Amino acid sequence: MHLTVGFECPQCGAPMTLDETTRYVHCPYCGVTHYLTATDCFRYILPSRNGISETYYMPYIRFKGTVYTCNGVTVNHRIIDKTYRSLDIATLPATLGFRPQAMTMRFRTPESTGIFLKNTVMRGDIVNLAGHTGSGSTVAHRALIGESISLIYLPLYKRNNQLIDAVNDKRLGPIPMDTFDDIHETGETDHITVLAALCPRCGWNLEGAGDSIVLTCSNCESAWEVKQRRFAPLDVAHEETTSRQCRYIPFWRITIEMSDPSVVSYADFIRFAGLPKVVLPAWESQTLSFILPAFKIRPSLFLRLAQQMSSSLSTTTMQDGIPSAPLSPATLPREEALESIKTVIARMAARKRYVIETLPRLTVHCRDFQLLYLPFEETTHELVHNKTNICVLTRAFEYGAFV
Ligand SMILES: [Zn+2]
Ligand SMILES: [Zn+2]
Repeated sequence: MHLTVGFECPQCGAPMTLDETTRYVHCPYCGVTHYLTATDCFRYILPSRNGISETYYMPYIRFKGTVYTCNGVTVNHRIIDKTYRSLDIATLPATLGFRPQAMTMRFRTPESTGIFLKNTVMRGDIVNLAGHTGSGSTVAHRALIGESISLIYLPLYKRNNQLIDAVNDKRLGPIPMDTFDDIHETGETDHITVLAALCPRCGWNLEGAGDSIVLTCSNCESAWEVKQRRFAPLDVAHEETTSRQCRYIPFWRITIEMSDPSVVSYADFIRFAGLPKVVLPAWESQTLSFILPAFKIRPSLFLRLAQQMSSSLSTTTMQDGIPSAPLSPATLPREEALESIKTVIARMAARKRYVIETLPRLTVHCRDFQLLYLPFEETTHELVHNKTNICVLTRAFEYGAFV
């Protein structure tokens, strides 16, 4: 589902239409670049057919991403691209269907008036809402890797004790209950924040692509992510290369330790997962890190790259800082990558049944993270990481996760 949202340049007021995932916005009229951010998730409003003053806004959770399941000796995945009703009111449609796709939404801002009903669905609920995959209720582990999680509000109004869908002016049914007026939001709501995309260190324009979640400054060679509505510096490293025809692709290097069972060093992990490697003495004190794609890509490829890169490069030392070569945008937040770690462990494990059985009680603690740029040489159809010979079809990057 491809969604669009209307946006006005805060600098010059020019109207623009953005993709749902656009964060880095360059205004073609005044030349200013903005970066859009929200603390928890973005909120969009579907347009009403006519401006009714007393409008209720019913939240729907919009989720696009992958549900991974681990069970027995298998790791499965399922792509989800759907909206879910956030309140259990049968009069209202269970999903928004394709409607959001057919119209341009607008951001919810502090100026948005109306009665906003409370969202009651949490992230964890989406896994259940998204349905069961794999082998039903006996699944040992489920993980949700979101590419896009947002709230979409459906406008409603009351007419003669009936609830009317304000998008198409159709009657939905009787007003469901007296509590309808009691479920509106109270207190502060998180709204969209628009930042000027300027390097906090040197004032230079930050660079990125439309859906980048990390912006870089080529002037002072720094990288930035948004934390609590402001740019914060990000620890970055890269692998050096002598190749001139290369593109740097971002990965998250996430250093973890696990408990129950306790897995702290790289050597511990090899024994836990039963990997066919001879444990070197140095690995007993080597921290355990995983190298996971920091970009949106098909789930099968995400797992393959995570497995291959983590197996090959987890003990390799890299150079600090961003490389001076073309950079592919980082588009997958590290929280989402971190969410995938248990699934990646299951995928890597040689003694799968044992490892998958331990996943429900295994606790993962993130000790450290870093954005890692790895050089891939561009051939006609493929991108090849020379050091490991790992290759990916160029097309896989362009198409993203939903081919
Ligand atoms: Zn402008
Ligand atoms: Zn700078």
